[in-house]
Amino acid sequence: MHIETDPKLDFKDVLIRPKRSTLNSRSEVDISRTFRFVHTGHEWTGFPLIAANMDTVGTFSMAQAFAPFGAMVALHKHYPAERLIEFFRTDVSKNAFYSIGITAEDLDKLAFVRRQVPVTKICMDVANGYSEQFLQTVKRVRDENKDAVIMAGAIVTGEMAEALILAGADIVKVGIGSGSVCTTRDLTGVGYPQLSAVIECADAAHGLRGHVCSDGGCTVPGDVAKAFGGGADFVMLGGMLAGHDECEGRVRHELRDGESVAVGMEFYGMSSETAMHKYHGGVADYRASEGKTVEVTYRGPVKATLQGIMGGLRSAMTYMGATRLKEVPKRTTFVLVGAQRNTVFD
Ligand code: 5GP
Repeated sequence: MHIETDPKLDFKDVLIRPKRSTLNSRSEVDISRTFRFVHTGHEWTGFPLIAANMDTVGTFSMAQAFAPFGAMVALHKHYPAERLIEFFRTDVSKNAFYSIGITAEDLDKLAFVRRQVPVTKICMDVANGYSEQFLQTVKRVRDENKDAVIMAGAIVTGEMAEALILAGADIVKVGIGSGSVCTTRDLTGVGYPQLSAVIECADAAHGLRGHVCSDGGCTVPGDVAKAFGGGADFVMLGGMLAGHDECEGRVRHELRDGESVAVGMEFYGMSSETAMHKYHGGVADYRASEGKTVEVTYRGPVKATLQGIMGGLRSAMTYMGATRLKEVPKRTTFVLVGAQRNTVFD
């Protein structure tokens, strides 16, 4: 048995220290980035925020709503091939990841879709990115899709970030147990504080010219700024995007003054009982559910929420004196805190 004693941090453990700068307004900062990916040499420019590949938020409608802002969507893997083919024929698809697990069915479906339409970005997502089988599958998908950008995870440590990039991933997806509807930590005791995971994986990945996506654990726009500050190139969000018109999930209505109004919307983990019943007809015996189902407040169109996140990030950048998103990690000094904010009116 071994104990690591250096402190590991979550978003809630830090704040970003303000710094003197000559920036006067949020409008002077640029939150877009251009990346060149290590295995494909492809260039991509946009706002590097990704809607999670959950069937509630990783939807075609989310991709449509995000397109004008240059933000991305990892589509969930349960869309039928025909609908994916139709979608990948449209322009909006240039900011979308096609998601897969590592089952033969997933790989066959991808090959089938790729024979009809170009798929330039693939998200390979498994709960535990440490298995040898996952690494071998990343190698295989890289071999079979030489021109596609591959994002792969989930992992939380530098050595696994390096292994995945060497196996063919352009982007590693970082985060185990940090998600809002994830119960992995309760069930297994496994996990890693998200901000430290991002800092350590970014250090390892950037050394190999790879990129990092911080996945899970953001609860407010300030957490997105902290993830970028820690070295994330992309930030993936589930819960913060739940409850919108662009989401899929049961909506709960209430009668108010004789009119039926939407008040709540279902949101659940991809390995929750809800998802397993929907797609696999129940929870497999050997596999415990590692996700939960919640109801979030219905919030209307996602555009206002996305603009709130973008505004928060721009404001954070003016406080730290970063003109471009790329400069954010260099301009970030985190301070350890015991509390995030004043809670007197909570
Ligand atoms: P959030 O932004 O809601 O905090 O986190 C979203 C992330 O949670 C997803 O991108 C995914 O990595 C993770 N996630 C989604 N569903 C489940 C689940 O059922 N179990 C676990 N362990 N993680 C999940």
